[in-house]
Formats: sequence, C-alpha cells, structure tokens
Amino acid sequence: MKQFKAESKKLLDLMINSIYSNKEIFLREIISNASDAIDKLYFKSLTDHSVTTQKEDYKIHLAVNKEDRTITVTDNGIGMTKEELEKNLGTIARSGSGDFKAENKADDIDIIGQFGVGFYSAFMVASRVTVISRAFGSDEAWKWESSGAEGYTLTEAEKDEVGTKIIMVIKENTESENYDRFLEEYTLVDIVKKYSDYVRYPITMYREKSRAKEKPADAGEDYKPEYETYTELETLNSMVPLWKRSKSDVSDEEYNEFYKSKFMDFTDPARVIVSRTEGTATYNSLLFIPGRAPYDYYTREYEKGLQLYASGVLIMEKCADLLPDYFSFVKGVVDSQDLSLNISREMLQQDGQLKLIRSSLEKKIKNELSSMKMNDREKYEEFFKNFGRQLKFGCYAEYGMHADLLKDLLLFYSAKEKKLITLAEYVEKMPEEQKFIYYAAGDSAERLAKLPAAELVLDKGYDLLLLTEDVDEFCLQVLRQYGEKDKEKEFKNISSGDLGLETEEEKKAAEEKSEASKELFAAMKEALGEKVTAVRLSTRLKSHPVCITSEGPVTLEMERILSQMPGSEGNAPKSQKVLELNADHPIFATLKGLQEAGDKEKLATYADILYNQALLIEGLPIEDPVAYAQSVCELMK
Ligand code: ADP
Ligand code: MG
Repeated sequence: MKQFKAESKKLLDLMINSIYSNKEIFLREIISNASDAIDKLYFKSLTDHSVTTQKEDYKIHLAVNKEDRTITVTDNGIGMTKEELEKNLGTIARSGSGDFKAENKADDIDIIGQFGVGFYSAFMVASRVTVISRAFGSDEAWKWESSGAEGYTLTEAEKDEVGTKIIMVIKENTESENYDRFLEEYTLVDIVKKYSDYVRYPITMYREKSRAKEKPADAGEDYKPEYETYTELETLNSMVPLWKRSKSDVSDEEYNEFYKSKFMDFTDPARVIVSRTEGTATYNSLLFIPGRAPYDYYTREYEKGLQLYASGVLIMEKCADLLPDYFSFVKGVVDSQDLSLNISREMLQQDGQLKLIRSSLEKKIKNELSSMKMNDREKYEEFFKNFGRQLKFGCYAEYGMHADLLKDLLLFYSAKEKKLITLAEYVEKMPEEQKFIYYAAGDSAERLAKLPAAELVLDKGYDLLLLTEDVDEFCLQVLRQYGEKDKEKEFKNISSGDLGLETEEEKKAAEEKSEASKELFAAMKEALGEKVTAVRLSTRLKSHPVCITSEGPVTLEMERILSQMPGSEGNAPKSQKVLELNADHPIFATLKGLQEAGDKEKLATYADILYNQALLIEGLPIEDPVAYAQSVCELMK
C-alpha cells in the first residue's frame, strides 16, 4: 500500500472532519470534478481532432445501489493516466485542474477545481472510494482505491470508455449521523438540484417510477388498474442558468417562476434586474424585488442575502455581505468565475471582490428603483408600501451615512396633493418665499391635517408632509435639509419652534402684544411648573385657544416614539414643551381677567385644563385623566 504524499497523513483526517461544515457537499465536489474533466476533454477537442466525443454526448451519470451501499458517479471526460491518478489523488492539496488552468492560460474556461482537496470530501460519507479511470489517448485503465488515511492502492483495471468512474461505499449509520439518507434517490436529487443545478453537462440518473398497467381488452366493469414500477433515465439538472441567458431569450413568465420556486414566494416579483458585468467585477446576477414583504421582514428573524455561485456551482445559500441593509429585501443570485474561495468554498478568501460586487449591485438596485419611480409610479408606490420603511431606516442608520443615496427614493404623504410625493416634488412646487419644508408627525394623517398649525401652513398655500411612521421624523432629522445645492431648505416640524410664516411687521406686532401679557404668561408658567419650559403667545393658532409645541432637538412625536421603545421605561429623552396661547381667542381675555383679579387658584385650574387639552389635540397622553375630567366637570356645575 502506498502512503499519501502530504505533509502529514493527519491532513486527510483533518480535512475530512473539519474543513466542510456540511457532509452533503461531497456530491458537489465529485460532480464538479467530473464537470472539470469534461471541460478539459472538450477544450482539447477544439484543437485535437482525434477526440470523437460529440458535444451533446458529454454527461455525468449518477447511480445508487442500496444493497451494496454505493453511489457511483461516472463521467466521459478526459480521464486520468496511472501517473495522474497517483499525482492528483495520491497527493493531498494538489490540483490537476489548477495546473491545467495555468498551463493553458485559459482564464476564460470555467474550471471549478483549484485546491486539490475537494475529492477527499468523499471520505466524509464513504468508508471506501474506488476510482477507475481511463485517460484520453490511452488504452489502459487504472484503479485507485482507498479507505482513507491509511493510504491507497493502484492496480490495473478494465474500462472500455474514456473517462472516470468513482464508486463510493457509504458509511454505516452512527449514533450521531444518518448516512443511509445518502442512499435515497430523492436525497441525491435534492443535493444535485441544490448545488449542481447549473453544471453545464447533463447529470443523469435512473429513477424509479410507477405507472398503471395497460387495461386488458377483456377487462370487466369492475376492473381496477394495476400498477407497476419501472425506471426511467432522468436529467436532474437544468444546466443553463437563467442568469446566463440573455434577457431577450427569457420570458417574464420564466423569470417569475424561477423567482417563486427558488425563493418560496407565491407572488410575482415587482421587478427583475438582470445584469452581466465585465471589468473590475466580473459577475452575472439576477435580482428580484419581491412583490410583497415576507411576513417576517421587519423582524429579527429575517435574514438578508443573495445566493452566491462560483462558475455555476452553489457556494453560499445566503451571502449577506452582498447586500446593504437598506436593500435587504432584494432576493437573487450572483454568479462569478473569479472569486477566490477558501478551501471549503464556504467562504470567500478576501472581501475585496465581494465589496466590488456589492457596490456594483447597489448601484443597479438603486437605478432600478429610480426608474421604477419615474416610469411606473403606481408600482413604485406599491413597492414603497412594502419596503419604504426599510429605506427610511437606511437613511437614518449609521448617522445618515447613506442618506444621500436613499433620499430621492423616499415618498411622503402630501396634505395638499393627498397622495405620496417625493421630496424633489415638494421642493419643486414651493413658492419662492417659502422658507421651510413643513411636516407634521403623528400616528394619524387625518388628525395631523387638522392640527391648528397645519391649517395655517396650508392656508398660506404651502404644502405639508404628514408623517405617520415611527421612523419618518428621525429620517428627516438626519437629512436636516433637502434641495439643490445652495438652495437647500430645512425641514420644519409645525409643532416646534418658529414656523417662519410671518412678515417682519406681523412679528413686531406679536412681540408688542406678548410684552403686554408678560405677567399672565409668567403666572401660568408658575402654575404649570416643570410641565412646560415656557408659556408664550402663539403665532400658529387661528381658531384654537392653545397648543403645545416643543423647543430643542426632541419633538413631541419623537418623545412619544422613544418612550414606547422597549427598555426605555422612564429614561427616554423628553421634549421641552411650550404652551402657546391664542391672543385673539375669547379664552385669552378670560385668563387675563383672572390674572389681573389675582385669582391664582382658578388660573392654575384653567392653565391645567388648557395644557391637557393641548396635549390631547397633539395626540399625546395626559398625565392624570381623572383629575382632568374632574376639573372639566367642576366648570359645568
Ligand atoms: P480540485 O478539483 O480543486 O483540483 P480535487 O481534490 O477535487 O481538487 O481533485 C484533484 C484533482 O484530481 C483534480 O484537479 C483533477 O486533476 C483530478 N480529478 C479528480 N476527479 C477527476 C475526474 N472525474 N476526472 C479527471 N480528473 C479528475
Ligand atoms: Mg475538485
């Protein structure tokens, strides 16, 4: 018996037991080798006319035998000579395919092997592996046989056709591992479909089927059909990956079906993005924007990622690094020939290539969404309903690092136009003198549109964005402003600070009025205590007597949202509230009367009632609903 030539025999053990995390990939490795061997013969046939195999005759055949516990993989590729068997299979970590690539300087041939270890993955499931091979151009065949780390034997054998046959004797079940499953036809079919569906040559297998026997001519009324089993040769793989076919050759139907079956959705995708890229990042990709959000999309359970293939062979089911979080809804496949994979092919060796692909994909997705927004607004709105929240999170996340990329994909509800609009559309329709992009934030658009300050903004002829999702205001705060360079407009919450709606004269008049009621404001502030930071004259009220606004970075709506976040109990940042009074409202005169008469107690009660009313109008909870109700009843007596 010959010993493996490797640094250490331990290497084989190590490799069998630790490189791969998943036993079923042995079949991927063996089939990939067969496919490489066929590639090599085909490549030879281009220059060597003694190759008689026709292109359509190349195939990889799979057979399983439960009694003998064997799986056999046969190919009619280039085969191996005695020397090659010894060199390639007798030396761990030696890749004949790697040499072939180097010798032929054939970067453009998609040979899968490169490390010289894949073959040994067979020992993860097999107790014994036999390789019978006849090399092209040779009239002898050789048999290589090994039961693992002990070494291998090499003897002469009989084989009529050029190519290689690999027979694996599957291990007996152990307590922790079920090996029998690899002897089930359907397991093998599944594994082939999963990893090797796009291998370019047919992978065939005889499958057991059942059919009704022909009805005898003399069968009576009560004839019951009899069934018989038979076997039929089936091609298990689909061979040409959809993403390698040109877009014009594939129908929408095919793309949709592919999407639905591959990504377990029952709705057609909203968009299909097909691309082939040459240059810095060479890859083919087929991406889908789902037609609806998966039920777990906005939960922690959802895992983003694209399927990653290297030359048509599946490497990773969900490669998260290919997608930024804000596009995590995208599904699809990426296939690249020039990925340098780590030895188990379960990971990429360097992220450099991944980063290139990722940024190229990001551009494609963004362009697709932009064009959908321009050309098919209805569909885009539907998309936005599903995934808009994720784009807004993306804007807000990482301190707004991606806000520039995403801001033009956002839609918000316009109070004036009563539909979703983009920020660009808002700014475009702004009258010359309008200083801010106005918005109101809360849980119901209907209520927001009725806010006193909303009336004021709309009456001026300005539009108002009604933000009803939790993330909305945070997103705008990160953006801070929007518009053409040097003409950017700041976002302005209508319940916060100075709205900038008045002329200089109006401002002056308001200041005078305010000065005249200084004492009233001071008395009310005293009565309300810490609840408010100030009591002021309002410039945003028309028909209401009071309203609550905020000063500083935390707005009323942000306080509400932050206080509802899990774990925030009592610690969430609070807004600084200001009670604003409408000097033109009859109640203002009443308050003034009380203050001048020195009726502090009544003024305090009124201040409290008005404060609570203002909170209610803003959709905010009041601290003591019972006390509030009692105060109101007091007044009615
Ligand atoms: P890799 O595929 O990364 O080169 P493997 O361990 O999978 O490494 O295979 C080692 C070498 O054995 C291959 O490079 C190839 O030269 C040879 N080989 C394996 N399987 C076959 C086959 N079915 N036909 C011809 N050569 C093969
Ligand atoms: Mg290989």
